[in-house]
Amino acid sequence: MTIDWKSLANNYQEDYLADLSELISIASVRDDDNATDEYPLGEGPTKAMEKFLSFGERDGFKTVKLDNTVGYIEYGEGDKTLAIQSHADVMPAGDGWKTEPFEMTIIDGLAYGRGTSDDKGPGLAAYYGLWMLKDQGVTPKLKIRLIIGTDEESDWTGMKHYFDVEPQPTFGFSPDAEFPLINGEKGNATYEIKFGSKNGEEFRLKNFDSGLRTNMVPGKAEALVETDDNQKFVDAFTDYLDKNPVAGDVKAIGDGVSVHVTGKQAHAMEPNNGINAGTYLANFLSQFSFSGDAEKFLKLAGVTLHDDSRAHNIAANYTDDVMGDLTMNVGILKFSETDGGLINTNFRYPKGSSDEIILNNLKKVADDVDELSHMVPHYVAKDDPIVSTLLGVYERQTGETNVEPEVVGGGTYARLMDRGVAFGALFPGTEDTMHQANEFQPVSDLIKAMAIYGESIYELSQEG
Ligand SMILES: [Zn+2]
Repeated sequence: MTIDWKSLANNYQEDYLADLSELISIASVRDDDNATDEYPLGEGPTKAMEKFLSFGERDGFKTVKLDNTVGYIEYGEGDKTLAIQSHADVMPAGDGWKTEPFEMTIIDGLAYGRGTSDDKGPGLAAYYGLWMLKDQGVTPKLKIRLIIGTDEESDWTGMKHYFDVEPQPTFGFSPDAEFPLINGEKGNATYEIKFGSKNGEEFRLKNFDSGLRTNMVPGKAEALVETDDNQKFVDAFTDYLDKNPVAGDVKAIGDGVSVHVTGKQAHAMEPNNGINAGTYLANFLSQFSFSGDAEKFLKLAGVTLHDDSRAHNIAANYTDDVMGDLTMNVGILKFSETDGGLINTNFRYPKGSSDEIILNNLKKVADDVDELSHMVPHYVAKDDPIVSTLLGVYERQTGETNVEPEVVGGGTYARLMDRGVAFGALFPGTEDTMHQANEFQPVSDLIKAMAIYGESIYELSQEG
């Protein structure tokens, strides 16, 4: 059977965009403050997953909701299973949007909105790949499951549950990263460093707040301090802004000063793509004579961990030939004079390093450190058919040649499968706006991805 996947995908563009617009309009951010037994992540992520499943029902697929945190759309039968793992949750919008983040807006062929790139756009493109197969009357020789998680951006609640209760798929891919293909993912470890609330006399750190997630470079930071000389402090801040790549403002409030810093949000897997507002603010404050726990907090965040994405200062730096550099992101920084402080850091490390090495090195610079989460590095051999078949389809459709798979610092659902890879949907040359303000995907890229997914699922489905 010969199918012209590219021209076929074009026929589905209008339907695809209508469905995507519906998904984007559900603000499916994990919301722990409104978690209930029924909605352990808040309602949004579940509602978006249910909307996704409703498309499957509409188009005549079998759909299953295992619980309110994970579900799947199924097609075909057989002993083997091809799994496609996507997620319906999104990162918080953050500030700096030019359009409404939870409303898909197409400007000059670019679809803006939270989730257009990560991961509603790509996940739905994979769904349309599957739908095209069914719509064309193709009978797969194996079972295909498009699994939709609801907590990819935090703890993988739901997708982990799926793997606890369902058999391991034969192989699969996650359309939740970039093209061409990712066959290796660094280890991923998150640590929390805690501080007491002892403060200074001359300078008091009343409050410090920066960062929403450990897997994001914080774009904003704010602090409230009492100083011995407000004007001197304000002048020093103006001077600091002149010399550093951050913006900010400062104003006197009562007997204290409120100071804001703006950097640049980015994904934690390459902290150098962002500018960490939190560590810059701590760096500025660390020049003044705070004392006690406030001083320890500011010195660690603003000196030891500041501007050091390869973790040289704590001697955890490491590079592997295939998997690249260990990286460190300082994702959450908080201090209050009543509750004390915390700094959450997230490390992506290649084989050759380990979470224990990192923990031991952190313990040398901090008194109270806990490992919050950890995943080991993941690697699928280049000659595995899940790698070679998908790369073959990618090369055929894009005309690129000698395409090599990549290793990244991002952790995708693919690592839950022994033979799992990440495949799309960000094309080389398209700006990566995942986790950032003004997230977008070119509509033409999404349709190109749909065609690639269609042919890929078709090829894999004929392996039986
Ligand atoms: Zn994602």
